Amino acid sequence: MREQIMGLITPAMSIVFVAVFVVMWWRGKMGTYVLGFALAYVFFALGFASTHLFNTGSPYVFHVTQFFYTLSVATGVWALTSRAGQPPYLGVLLVIYGLSATTLAVAVLTSNDITSRLIIVNVGYGSMYIVCVMSLLGAQRREAIDKLIIATHSLVAAQFMIRPVLTLLIEQGIAADVYRESVYYSVLNLALAFISLMSAMVLIGACVYDQIKQVREQADLDALTGLRTRRAFEQDVVAAMERAKQECVPISLVVADIDHFKAVNDVWGHQIGDRAIAQFGEIIKRTVRDCDIAGRIGGEEFCILAWNCQEEAAVTMADRIRVNFAKTAIDGMPEDHRLTASFGAAGRGQGEGYGKLFARTDAALYRAKADGRNRTVRDEDGSKRAVVTPINAESDRRREARG
Ligand code: GH3
Ligand code: MG
Ligand code: MG
Repeated sequence: MREQIMGLITPAMSIVFVAVFVVMWWRGKMGTYVLGFALAYVFFALGFASTHLFNTGSPYVFHVTQFFYTLSVATGVWALTSRAGQPPYLGVLLVIYGLSATTLAVAVLTSNDITSRLIIVNVGYGSMYIVCVMSLLGAQRREAIDKLIIATHSLVAAQFMIRPVLTLLIEQGIAADVYRESVYYSVLNLALAFISLMSAMVLIGACVYDQIKQVREQADLDALTGLRTRRAFEQDVVAAMERAKQECVPISLVVADIDHFKAVNDVWGHQIGDRAIAQFGEIIKRTVRDCDIAGRIGGEEFCILAWNCQEEAAVTMADRIRVNFAKTAIDGMPEDHRLTASFGAAGRGQGEGYGKLFARTDAALYRAKADGRNRTVRDEDGSKRAVVTPINAESDRRREARG
């Protein structure tokens, strides 16, 4: 009786992990993979409880246990691979289960000694974890927590392959009806308690890590436009400029500011002003490439770092945004009314840091404002100053109409 109660520690512990995963999924609004971890522990507890509570002399008990343990491993593999964005290879797992279940049925029918049954089922679980680790190794993302997951699950796979062979070398034959009194069963209990605790700690750690990462990513994005905040933008730009220096990649900076924006708020209200900012941000997002870095650095001020881009190309990009914005109807404003924006653009000079490059680009923007707005001015190393596009929205429309 005492042993029976002690043996329930592992499934009881699993139920606590289930509760932790469900709460993290629900309250933390996390991905379904967290629910997958919970489900894996539900099936694990059911598998463990079936061997522990039912008569092991019955020919069905091994099949029931194998069924629940396989469900536990498959759900766990699905959850881990879907977290890493990798294929779960459920078909391969099904084939392994099919082979393992068939050989187990033969072993149950032909012998009362359970040695072969134990080796068959354990090799099955071990093979499934090897499939899981192989899939995880193919993932692009490999942060410290991902490496820890791969390491612990490799250990779990090795444990399923090695433990039964080692224990059975010591104990040799075990009759089915006295299975729970065997050394094997005690070692198994200890191993499963350790494995379930170790993986739960790593998986909970992974969930906490994912949650913190998600919160950080959200904090780095401006709520109105979905572009980077000033802090995140500057952080990313400084890192990108360092990389560009090492790789000798040309970069340019573009600073944009919506024209006469104060009047928009004054005439149509703050909410419409917000919509104009959001629509401007949307145009920037649509125009820049994935390798560029864009951010909202002030109320109606935006900045773009154009990667692998000379000053001329940056001016072309800025002008594309400018012309597009000048054509865009702002939700809530009169249909025939259009807003405009001014742009400054500058290519990075040799050895130039972010502070100096930004100051030159901002000075170009200031000149665009002073020269009449709705234009892009390039800096050209601050020496030769050229107004690239002294065109207002009306002439843009005429130019477009001419094709
Ligand atoms: P200029 O053409 O010289 O740029 O003139 P401007 O009126 O756009 O420039 P100014 O910097 O004087 O005004 C910017 C205005 O933007 C002032 C501020 O009330 C408004 N603003 C700043 N942040 C927000 C925001 O998040 N939403 C809205 N609706 N308005 C904002
Ligand atoms: Mg402005
Ligand atoms: Mg401004």
